[in-house]
Amino acid sequence: KSFEELGLHADLLKGVYDMGFTKPSKIQESALPLLLRDPVQNMIGQSQSGTGKTAAFVLTMLSRVDFTKNKPQALCLAPSRELARQIMSVIAAMGKFTPVQTEYAIKDHLPRGVTNITAHIVVGTPGTMTDLIRRRVIDVSEVKVFVLDEADNMLDKDGLGDQTLRVKNMLPRGGHTQIILFSATFPDHVRNFASKFAPNANKIEL
Ligand code: AMP
Repeated sequence: KSFEELGLHADLLKGVYDMGFTKPSKIQESALPLLLRDPVQNMIGQSQSGTGKTAAFVLTMLSRVDFTKNKPQALCLAPSRELARQIMSVIAAMGKFTPVQTEYAIKDHLPRGVTNITAHIVVGTPGTMTDLIRRRVIDVSEVKVFVLDEADNMLDKDGLGDQTLRVKNMLPRGGHTQIILFSATFPDHVRNFASKFAPNANKIEL
């Protein structure tokens, strides 16, 4: 299959080709049709880094954002600032031909005076994301996609699993937010967490 056949918007196709990708990786080919389907479906994906999973969820976030609305519509959590930065660089590259605005939710990043984030996509770590939502700096009323990357590494760090669930519980009620979880490994505690975090999810393995 080609990226065209996956139904990506023309501006995103340009971004993908500009990055030098010629065809979807295996996980992109299997995950994107499910991720982009309406009505939205939750997804739990098992994949190592190096498989192209980041592009799969980044393309999903970029596809679901309405760029005319200056409110957060996609949130992405990572277990470390470094990973948040890597994800952000993929968003910037793939979204190069879109008007996407992004912001970090990582400790000490936002200037103190910021009271309202108008970026479309916010990427960060669970503690700061929780704090910004609580203080209503992030308004979650329009959030349509919530991504957790490297869930296994997240759960290895004290308290981050609980904070991640807390963020999820602050999202709009009614189940209209698409929840996407990726993890390289699924020992029992990750499996249990994933089924709570992303109920009724499609499972994709690679
Ligand atoms: P990830 O699994 O997200 O850590 O991605 C691993 C690497 O694969 C990154 O360096 C990406 O730039 C690259 N990559 C992702 N998707 C594709 C693709 N469709 N074609 C070629 N390279 C890709």
